[in-house]
Amino acid sequence: MTGPSPATAVHPSLSGLSKAVTDKLAKLGIVRKFDLVLHLPLRYDDETRLTPIADALPGAELLVQGTVTDCGIQYRPKRQLVCRIAEGNAVLVLRFLNFYGSQVKLLAEGNTIRAFGAVRIGHLGAEMVHPRFRVVAGEMPVAQSLTPVYPTTAGMGQDTLRRLIARALAGEPLGEQLPSALTESLGLPPFADAVRLLHNPPPDVSQLLLQERTHPAWRRMKFDELLAQQLSMRVHYQRRRAAGAPVLRVKGQLVKALLKVLPFQLTAAQNRVLAQVRDDLGQSHPMQRLLQGDVGSGKTVVAALAALQCVENGHQAAVMAPTEILAEQHYRKFSEWLEPLGVKVAWLSGSLKKTDKKQWLAEIAAGEAAIAVGTHALFEDEVVFKKLGLAIIDEQHRFGVHQRLALRMKGSTSNKGAQPHQLMMSATPIPRTLAMSYYADLDVSVIDELPPGRTPVVTKLVSEERRDEVIQRVRDACIAGRQAYWVCPLIEESEKLQLQTALDTHALLQETFPELRVGLVHGRMKGAEKQAVMAAFKAGELQLLVATTVIEIGVDVPNASLMVIEHAERMGLSQLHQLRGRVGRGATESVCVLLYQTPLSPMAKERLKVIYEHTDGFEIARQDLNLRGPGELLGARQSGVPMLRFADLARDLDLLDAARDAAEQLLREQPEAAKAHLARWLGGRNEYLKV
Ligand code: ADP
Ligand code: MG
Repeated sequence: MTGPSPATAVHPSLSGLSKAVTDKLAKLGIVRKFDLVLHLPLRYDDETRLTPIADALPGAELLVQGTVTDCGIQYRPKRQLVCRIAEGNAVLVLRFLNFYGSQVKLLAEGNTIRAFGAVRIGHLGAEMVHPRFRVVAGEMPVAQSLTPVYPTTAGMGQDTLRRLIARALAGEPLGEQLPSALTESLGLPPFADAVRLLHNPPPDVSQLLLQERTHPAWRRMKFDELLAQQLSMRVHYQRRRAAGAPVLRVKGQLVKALLKVLPFQLTAAQNRVLAQVRDDLGQSHPMQRLLQGDVGSGKTVVAALAALQCVENGHQAAVMAPTEILAEQHYRKFSEWLEPLGVKVAWLSGSLKKTDKKQWLAEIAAGEAAIAVGTHALFEDEVVFKKLGLAIIDEQHRFGVHQRLALRMKGSTSNKGAQPHQLMMSATPIPRTLAMSYYADLDVSVIDELPPGRTPVVTKLVSEERRDEVIQRVRDACIAGRQAYWVCPLIEESEKLQLQTALDTHALLQETFPELRVGLVHGRMKGAEKQAVMAAFKAGELQLLVATTVIEIGVDVPNASLMVIEHAERMGLSQLHQLRGRVGRGATESVCVLLYQTPLSPMAKERLKVIYEHTDGFEIARQDLNLRGPGELLGARQSGVPMLRFADLARDLDLLDAARDAAEQLLREQPEAAKAHLARWLGGRNEYLKV
């Protein structure tokens, strides 16, 4: 995306090493010499003092020294090398299950041996199994610093890594690049001091602080890493901002007309984010805004009002959703709201009939359809907009980076290089810490309030053994005129099995409830079939809807006030939260029954406890972060966001805050320092690239 950075010249590649070695280093993420400097130890061995054998207690790893009294291969219980070393009267056994002839030679009787390992009590007495050892010849001082143990890969020994890293530390420029006012105000040591200390800590350094990575040297490295991430994301943000976009002014006729016919008033939160969005649309650079709001917070109407502002300015808007059910629902909502205002809404999905599709494509190309709603089908090459001004992407995290890029490019072909504004929406609440880190390249708006009149959902945890009571509850609710969802268990191993389970559950429940009309919706159904079932449920023709997790996102049927989730213990927290968000949309009190099978794993128990105790999506996400860590929470690998190596977002919030502020300030006041920092940390790579 960017040309070779000048950094490549400053930080040369790993020249002079064999391909075998560079291949292995590449596996560790080391491609430049400087990456060796940034390859920090996992832990340390303390070889800075000798422990007398008499004092060598079982447990910690120790360095000891003694003279070999006897050494030989034994065959019981299996082939092994057993060597005894003595220091005065104290004796220690060194035992090797795998060994070379050369090692046997080194352990010859009379040799003085220095060994490092953990002492344990074996059947031969105190012993070390597979210690690292050396023959002591003459005066041999102990190590002056703790011995680093590096993350490594098969075939790359610690000794080789240590040598390469030591060489890099001696040869690479380690000078300070950040303003001292910045590092000093944060109490962080200079870069060179920090890396030297971490690679070769002096014996008196607190091992605990090193291990917990709270030592100032560690904090310096974490800060630098976070700063590089923030800088890189802000640079991308600014670069995209430099592109042109159509100016979509606040006009108001259509927007006002819709507000007038809506059966509700916008909440204060909706009004606030709408104002931000409307302001963005009026700028001559593309909006890059993420709209976050818990399930049911009312993002759709904000999207519709944004789309109208675009249409008022003679541009088209595209609305994209990740599933057919959700896209279809948006299509119906948008049509219901906008067609009476004279705004034509087109529909595109994979399951359209050819002739219908052709018709819609023609209307989109001619600009007759001002708004196009659809699934991934909107990305296809055959979709050509006359004048795309705004792309709205619901549940943005479900789309890949490339798909979002594809939609953006559609705008530039129709707009003489100008890019459409982008509004991304997400109902997956992300704790502030994560949002700050991972969305540093977006503007974020949050709808932090639910529309009034909602009664909180009551969550019940019920063991599988009490299934009968649950069935009775479903019957009562449906007979009383309410509707219910029955969510089938998630079967991750096999989609086929999952489908079978849904079919079986449906058959069983039909049998159980002869007096009720029971529908079924699952992921393998054709689009039209799915729509028909959802429409029947929405119209109240079906009372009970058996569903796989396809209903997880976006489905809106306010009369449904009971949900049963089978095998809730198999589901993740955000999935449970999204599912539960399908009820509690009307005025009647809603209940979500989580059926679980015992015994529960400790993790499952924790998850069920969190979902039982909390209804606020942000709080659930925060707890999820604690339980799982940020990588898994965001599915970071898939989304193209790299994992942070050193910083831990759950623990290093203060550093993240500081890095974010520092990134802004550096880019503004000391762009050269920002550039140097990016070069040092990322070299020519642009790891943190997002679209
Ligand atoms: P989500 O943010 O999960 O996409 P929706 O946009 O589907 O939420 O809104 C959920 C429901 O709330 C819909 O039925 C919608 O019409 C309704 N709604 C949205 N805003 C308000 C409001 N301000 N007052 C009352 N109901 C609202
Ligand atoms: Mg929605």
